[in-house]
Amino acid sequence: MTTFLFDKTIFGPVRSRRLGISLGINLLPNDSKFCSYNCVYCECGWNGEDKTFRPQLPSRETVKDLLEKKLKQMVADGELPDVITFAGNGEPTLHPDFPLIIDDTLELRDMLTPKARVAVLSNSTMTHKPSVVEALKKVDDNILKLDSGIEKTIRVMNKPTGYFSLEKMIGYLMSFEGKLIIQTLFLRGEHNKNRFDNTSEEELEAWIAALKKIKPEKVMIYSIDRDTPEENLIKVSSEELYDIAQKAESQLGIPFEVSA
Ligand code: SF4
Repeated sequence: MTTFLFDKTIFGPVRSRRLGISLGINLLPNDSKFCSYNCVYCECGWNGEDKTFRPQLPSRETVKDLLEKKLKQMVADGELPDVITFAGNGEPTLHPDFPLIIDDTLELRDMLTPKARVAVLSNSTMTHKPSVVEALKKVDDNILKLDSGIEKTIRVMNKPTGYFSLEKMIGYLMSFEGKLIIQTLFLRGEHNKNRFDNTSEEELEAWIAALKKIKPEKVMIYSIDRDTPEENLIKVSSEELYDIAQKAESQLGIPFEVSA
């Protein structure tokens, strides 16, 4: 497979049909992945084998400095970002200064590009930390991953690297009191002789039941688009994604967005 890693702390801007002009922030290393999940579909590839790996993360000061320079340059060039997005080579909320970096980013955004939204793409695994929850509540688009309402499936698809309880995670997601967007990747395939298909009736029932408890403001669904570390995966078609969205929307009454 071709592994895709961001080689900078501030990357882009990239133009996307959905987000517009998006400036990215990668709080993880620039040459390796660091994540609390090890998803079978991760575009960054598998996690490293070394369980004691402690990555070099950019400091809070470095991120603030680089972001300020980049935003000033974008203002001077007349190319303002529509969104500043925390994504990159792993899970951004693992950065120990994540809450302070969010404060810095919101301050710089307000000062230099007040119309830009601030978005975070997170896998939800650090939502047991009150400081992370408080920081995520401050951003405009708090996008949190939930690929299944069945723990066994998450263990195969997302492969949590530490302690994991889906029941507890759903409780933490409920604590956002609706100020969150859930993002779900639909997929079928096999990994380590375990078959999975999070589009089955049983799966959709459990996923919708979890969404009923979490009450997100929106749900975004998609399937794989690039190379994946596990080869035995089957992309879910856009027709199926639209069917899933329609079915869930009629039961939940919240907006769904399909990226096909
Ligand atoms: S949560 Fe994201 S970065 Fe982490 S393994 Fe999954 S896809 Fe990769």
